Amino acid sequence: MVDRVYNFSPGPATLPYEVLQQASKDVVNFKETGIGLIEISHRSKEFMAVADETESLLRELMEIPDNYKVLFLQGGASSQFFMIPMNLLSHGKKATYLNTGTWAKKAIKEAKLFGDIDVAFSSEEASFNKVPTQDEYTVDSASEFLYLVSNNTIYGTQFPEFPVTEKLLVSDMSSDILSRKIDVSKFGLIFAGAQKNMGPAGVTVVIIREDLLDRTPENTPTMLTYKTHADKGSMFNTPPCFAIYAVGEVLKWLKKLGGVAAMEEINKEKAGLLYDCIDGTDFYRGHAEKNSRSLMNITFNLPTPELEVQFVAEAATIGLNGLKGHRSIGGCRASIYNAFPREGVIKLVDFMKEFETKNKG
Ligand SMILES: *Cc1c(COP(=O)(O)O)cnc(C)c1O
Repeated sequence: MVDRVYNFSPGPATLPYEVLQQASKDVVNFKETGIGLIEISHRSKEFMAVADETESLLRELMEIPDNYKVLFLQGGASSQFFMIPMNLLSHGKKATYLNTGTWAKKAIKEAKLFGDIDVAFSSEEASFNKVPTQDEYTVDSASEFLYLVSNNTIYGTQFPEFPVTEKLLVSDMSSDILSRKIDVSKFGLIFAGAQKNMGPAGVTVVIIREDLLDRTPENTPTMLTYKTHADKGSMFNTPPCFAIYAVGEVLKWLKKLGGVAAMEEINKEKAGLLYDCIDGTDFYRGHAEKNSRSLMNITFNLPTPELEVQFVAEAATIGLNGLKGHRSIGGCRASIYNAFPREGVIKLVDFMKEFETKNKG
């Protein structure tokens, strides 16, 4: 095995080593076909089998009901910021958004191009340090849907539970899909860029309730219409073949590990180790309010920005990489998605204790 560092990058993020190894073989010679995986036709029976398996594994692991379509799209999670209102809102109609961070804010900006957007909650004044409980906002009765970001990657906050509403629920799950059990039937649409918790960059998964496919206005470009991709099994045009394959390999790994419920327990334990360390001292301060804490992105500060710079640099010298916080809030962030190994979290906790002892005034 090559010398691997512990990669705390927020995305693209660490992947299971066995997935990387398998991919490195398949890229050169896929299933003894004599053709590399990234050379093979997307309409070949070999690749069609890959795409089918990826979809059926995702359906199995997330228990996706039959009346939902699973789409593999390009354009990143960010393209969903406009595709959602473009397809689900005819011009002039309303939707409610919860402004819990940068990704929510970007989605709000795009949605405003298509409708009357009601921002029912914002934690921006408090540097997005929390997500709302349901009594902190009201959903306008004229709204078509309620949009929320399930896990706020940059700020390290996460909805511990989802709103209960009569409205369609639409959620960006880019940074916590497959990290915990969710009831898909409570949502109209779920989407996620693969590169945080599911695979490499290049594919965005959209899970959409079938009846919503008929809402799209006639004058919507073909490629930007969900139904185009739903009708053709994501093969209307060339799909991101390698990324779909790699997501499939990650899903096989997750299934072997016991599936989403088992993963959720592992994630709680891993994040708990870090939060216990943060709560056990005044030297480290968590950014997120306790009942909004993310199990995926742990954000914290040290007593001074100078110490934060030193912390990130020293950590890197012992193989703990990518701990610098996002430029919009500074501080430190440990992204510990599904594939991030527990041993790396332990190593970080040990380093944090040692760093505190050496540097507290
Ligand atoms: C990273 C991220 C995005 C943006 O993803 P792209 O694929 O780069 O467009 C959107 N939402 C959330 C929650 C993210 O973490």
